Amino acid sequence: MALIVHKYGGTSMGSTERIRNVARRVAKWHKAGHQMVVVPSAMSGETNRLLALAKEVAPEKPGKAYGRELDMLASTGEQASSALLAIALQAEGLDAVSYAGWQVPIKTNDAYTKARIESIDDARVRADLDAGKVVIITGFQGIDDGGNITTLGRGGSDTSAVAVAAALKANECLIYTDVDGVYTTDPRVVPEARRLERVSFEEMLEMASMGSKVLQIRSVEFAGKYKVPLRVLSSFTPWDIDLNEEATSGTLITFEEDADMERAVVSGIAFNRDEAKVSVLGVPDKPGIAYQILGAVAEANIEVDVIIQNLSKDGKTDFSFTVHRNDFQKTVDLLKGKVVPALGAADVVGDSRICKVSIVGIGMRSHVGVASRMFKCLSDEGINIQMISTSEIKTSVVIDEKYMELAVRALHREFDLDQTADTIAR
Ligand code: ASP
Ligand code: MG
Repeated sequence: MALIVHKYGGTSMGSTERIRNVARRVAKWHKAGHQMVVVPSAMSGETNRLLALAKEVAPEKPGKAYGRELDMLASTGEQASSALLAIALQAEGLDAVSYAGWQVPIKTNDAYTKARIESIDDARVRADLDAGKVVIITGFQGIDDGGNITTLGRGGSDTSAVAVAAALKANECLIYTDVDGVYTTDPRVVPEARRLERVSFEEMLEMASMGSKVLQIRSVEFAGKYKVPLRVLSSFTPWDIDLNEEATSGTLITFEEDADMERAVVSGIAFNRDEAKVSVLGVPDKPGIAYQILGAVAEANIEVDVIIQNLSKDGKTDFSFTVHRNDFQKTVDLLKGKVVPALGAADVVGDSRICKVSIVGIGMRSHVGVASRMFKCLSDEGINIQMISTSEIKTSVVIDEKYMELAVRALHREFDLDQTADTIAR
């Protein structure tokens, strides 16, 4: 017998028929002898609908008052889906009970619309489980110290599920969603992309932060911190498929670095079109320059990603970095306004038609020459690299946006990630 947490996304909970199917699937697991906790999202579209209603009544105002009411409002989506699932489970003959976040309670801070979980009291849930009940806990929400309902940010039900699994020391947290796992890259860009059977949470963090939207990043951070084995799998398989087959499907996100995982040097290719490049030209090459430029940017709460400083010539250098595209104009204006005159730099130029492509893999730790293989591959395709950044398990390059798909495909092939007859059979 194991303690298992299931999380179902909005699409999986999208209609009463689908909710009945979720109930049948959960009942199957319960009948196999497992203690079951289920964390559902709101029915698909519901959170958007509710938030749009608020905007229709009155536009958002700065300060906490409006945010508090948004959370009061949006949290009802999960309350409804959770109750419906409990009713469906009862119809399957199970003893099922649903709780809103505050009833558990799931304690959070008071950062409305993006609250963070601080603690979860497991006593009530444990007592129910011991009494043989299936426990349903609303995703996406909690309660702050002042007794106000909070929500965890869009996609936050993933984090609720992982946090609940951590608090209960569950054996595994299964995230049922509308894709069947984590892929080596986006299959819309590379049709040969292949589902990964396992991926380390560190790799998953790198991939999630670069736009693979399978899981909310915070849930992966949580899983890593509390060592919660996490599996992403499809909720569109028939509910009555063999339980063992289901339990080993999808992608396991694991904190164990087993021998099997070390086989692949590169596990996936991530890419991101959301960045823009900013260059400060003709900067005097003397101590304190990086601080003066990036300090001003940080003070404006703008996050910087890849940074590069050129070799200086005649005492002057160029300094470039990337920011999120949404912050691009703000960054250029800020530098032109204050920093360039203060530094005596020549100019600020920018380019928002760039993208970042990364190879990710914990195998890179123990293999040399991986980055140069990446550079050669891009050079063979005639792609110019504008910037490079590396970490232990990732090498990223900034290139012209128009070569993004070409680069991703070429790298996918170069690092043997393409689906082959052999890998399909496996
Ligand atoms: N219902 C919330 C949202 O749509 C939370 C979630 O589904 O994870 O963002
Ligand atoms: Mg989601």
